[in-house]
Amino acid sequence: MCIFCKIIKGEIPNKTILEDEGFLAFEDINPQAKIHILIIPKIHIENFDVMPSDVMANMTPFIQKVASKVGINGSGYRIITNIGREGGQEVNHIHFHMVGGEQLGPIL
Ligand code: 5GP
Ligand code: ZN
Repeated sequence: MCIFCKIIKGEIPNKTILEDEGFLAFEDINPQAKIHILIIPKIHIENFDVMPSDVMANMTPFIQKVASKVGINGSGYRIITNIGREGGQEVNHIHFHMVGGEQLGPIL
């Protein structure tokens, strides 16, 4: 079972920000900004390349709620999902990084 599925099952502790029946948002263990949250579906999907559009559609308002909950919906933030080997994906359970809480530099 993958590490994020273990987090969903409660076998690995996490600092939860928001949860509903389909999704979980929790703090990244190695934050790259003042706010760094990982947002995942509770079903195991490897990455964005195989993400079903209905799951993505449901995930969109959940991500927006997370941004509101931590108070960065007005100031702005960045959503990143790494895909596969050349995309730098280390955990093979789709996750969106939400980073913000400070002025971010350019990524490209
Ligand atoms: P990726 O490189 O796959 O896009 O990102 C994986 C992210 O998962 C990294 O930012 C890493 O810090 C985070 N991470 C890995 N293991 C754990 C863990 O056990 N708990 C938490 N909260 N984050 C983790
Ligand atoms: Zn998984």
